[in-house]
Formats: sequence, structure tokens, C-alpha cells
Amino acid sequence: MGLLDLIFPPRCGGCGRLGQDFCELCATSLEPVAVTSLHGILLVAAGRLSGPLQRAIHTYKYRPRPQLAGRLADPLSRAALAAGLTLPALSFVPLHPHRQRERGFNQAERLARRVGASLRVPVVGGLTRLRPTPAQVGLGQAERQVNVAGAFRWTAPEPPPHGLGLVDDVCTTGATLDAVARVVAEAGGSIGAFLVLAVAQTLPAVAVT
Ligand SMILES: [Zn+2]
Repeated sequence: MGLLDLIFPPRCGGCGRLGQDFCELCATSLEPVAVTSLHGILLVAAGRLSGPLQRAIHTYKYRPRPQLAGRLADPLSRAALAAGLTLPALSFVPLHPHRQRERGFNQAERLARRVGASLRVPVVGGLTRLRPTPAQVGLGQAERQVNVAGAFRWTAPEPPPHGLGLVDDVCTTGATLDAVARVVAEAGGSIGAFLVLAVAQTLPAVAVT
């Protein structure tokens, strides 16, 4: 804890209580989510998009409070370990440069770096968002697919690895994750698992072997 935290103790992004960025009560109140499959790729989530987790993600992205990544990444790392994933590297859903400049950081990248440190796997960049996609909020699945079609490209000189873990903050319909997985496959790599903080809808559970 730094000096500033003593003078201005942080407020919990989930419940507003003073003391921690994301308090123990909120951290233990996450609704667990079974490992699911999205277009044949495992989807691991720290919790459901509801209650304190939903409020904390909103605070993290829109207030914005980049330091919340540290606490929010913990349950995601635990979910990845519990799912028994072995991933050679992690990557993250990119923001368009304009959006990133506005926000000051990429929320998915910060999470990926924390989860990568916990799981001891490297984080690789390489994905680029080619155009600023309008906000997905309020759109249905078909509209979201159109919204993100052609929005991403793998721009690193070396091809993406196989079995890459792709990190994002929220999975709503999966349109973004699916669009990125296609781009990674076209570039010669593959996604081994999607890792998200929260899922917004119920997807069918799959047995993990
Ligand atoms: Zn709290």
C-alpha cells in the first residue's frame, strides 16, 4: 500500500466500501460460471456479469480505475488454474488506438498482464483493431457479428502461436472473441481458450477433461 492509499484509501469498485479496490466480500461473492465452449473453444470466466463484479468492471473501464486490474485478475487466474489450462502464451482483445488514448489503457491488456504473471506465461501483442467499432451495448448477436466483422487483424511479423489464451473483460454474445479467433487462425495460429472476467449470458456448459 502506498502513501496515497493511506491518505486517500481506495473505495471498492464493487460496493463502494473504503479500504480496497475490490474488497474481500465482493471478491468472494462472484457467481461461479462453469467452463463453456464458444464455437468449439473453451471459455473460462471469473464470474457472471452481475452485482459487485458488474459494478467493478464498469468502474474499472469507465471511471476509469486501471489499478483495479490487479484485484480483478485474481479470480480469473484462479478460474484458469481450476480449468487446468496449459497455455503457451496469452494475448488480449485490442482497443482501437483512439479508444485506448481516451481511456488511457486497454482493460483487456492489463488483465492479461496480471493473469500472465500469475500463471507464469508470456503475454504477446500482435492483434490490432483496424477501425473503431461502435459500442456493442444494446445490439443483438447478428448485429454484433456485423459490427466486429473485419475489425481485427494480426499485425505482428511472426505468426501467432497455437493454443493462445485470449483475454477480454466481458463476453456478451461472443461475437468479438469469435472474430479475433478467426483472425488468429487466418494468421496461422489458434486460440486454446478464451479468458474473460465475466459472462453476460448463459452458454451451455462443457465437460472439461
Ligand atoms: Zn466491495
